[in-house]
Amino acid sequence: MEYQQSTELDTVVIGGGQAGLVMGFYLAQRGHEFVILDENVRTGQSWRDRWDSLRLFTPAKYDGLPGKPFPGDRLAFPSKDDMADYLEGYAESMGLPVVLGTRVDEVKKVGDGFSVSAGDRSWQARNVVVATGGYRSPKRPGFAAGLDPSIVQLHSNDYRNPGQLQPGPVLVVGLGNSGAEIALEVSRTHATSVSGKPGGELPVRHGRAAARFVLPVIRFLGLHVLTLRTPVGRKVAPRFRATAAPLIRTRTKELRAAGVELLSRVSGVAGGLPVLEDGTTTPVTNVVWCTGYHEDAYGMGLPVAADAGHQRGVVDAMPGLYFLGREFQFAAASATLPGVGRDAQYLAEVMGAGSGRFAGTFRGMRHIPASNID
Ligand code: FAD
Repeated sequence: MEYQQSTELDTVVIGGGQAGLVMGFYLAQRGHEFVILDENVRTGQSWRDRWDSLRLFTPAKYDGLPGKPFPGDRLAFPSKDDMADYLEGYAESMGLPVVLGTRVDEVKKVGDGFSVSAGDRSWQARNVVVATGGYRSPKRPGFAAGLDPSIVQLHSNDYRNPGQLQPGPVLVVGLGNSGAEIALEVSRTHATSVSGKPGGELPVRHGRAAARFVLPVIRFLGLHVLTLRTPVGRKVAPRFRATAAPLIRTRTKELRAAGVELLSRVSGVAGGLPVLEDGTTTPVTNVVWCTGYHEDAYGMGLPVAADAGHQRGVVDAMPGLYFLGREFQFAAASATLPGVGRDAQYLAEVMGAGSGRFAGTFRGMRHIPASNID
């Protein structure tokens, strides 16, 4: 489909992952003229680029975006490629104006609106939604540079499968969900240890039974109890943003059963090898850093800082600028599939009606005023 470029629009959405797409769904409903700009050549790429064996921890019944349920067995946990294909189909079936292969390099404030540029193309709009995802700048400790050059080092962001590792023991640094899942996989082919402390663990085994009885409770808590509207939500939000989520599918019990050794945190490097907090040196030939991501600096010259204050994604200091898909943007579930749709709906309501090209596309859909959105 051809979309107008270098033009006056109601809204430009930067990023065409699930957050950008669902934003588009609600903008279309309100008659906005908009585009969704994404740097990839294919929708769903951020899922495709994750490790080969990755399955979602959310069951299919929670993985669909508004307007299109996730197909198939509702209690199954889709693979990352199933998820990517679903998003591609979503953009297509909703007729969303996604402009692929378009990396936004500059957002400038111009008069009452914004100018958004990607190379020699630009779009003018009164609203900009930044939906660029939170997993872009891999974080690893400075001392990683001191490891012996013979050690294979990877960040979880670049890990695909154990075939990338050389023979010999593997140390996985960081015990969040990525660290736990990668350690379990690697333990089938390599002697594996994992260093760090989990930020809690799901109290029951993850799987179909949990999808039926336990995950609905967790979803309810993440959507309706742990929100910026409740005292408990406001209390946990900073911790939630700063620390790894509890282990969900691969817990310490599963790791121990697979023979993975659980170690304390890595505190530095000595003689080219990782050193633990208790001073022990770990002689390994591979290190997988599962140490998370930096808060994204966006790199688009945004007219406000990445940590600018915002209310549910509405940037205080810059009318017309919005964030979507951020950790605990409104609720614990905000940066996940079950939570992002509600935040997008809220932003669309705050922006109000658009100038009309898409009006009627979603005729018959229920219109919910922002004041009624939980
Ligand atoms: P992304 O999917 O990262 O999409 C952002 C898009 O913006 C990307 O296509 C990116 O290339 C593009 N972009 C960025 N900058 C620019 C720019 N300057 N110009 C143009 N385009 C740009 N959530 C769940 O609900 N269930 C799960 O099971 C689950 N599993 C996860 C497993 C892993 C390993 C990780 C890391 C996350 C998981 N999540 C899960 C969390 C979340 O759902 C995903 O991170 C999801 O991809 C977030 O979607 P998003 O649209 O916010 O960001």
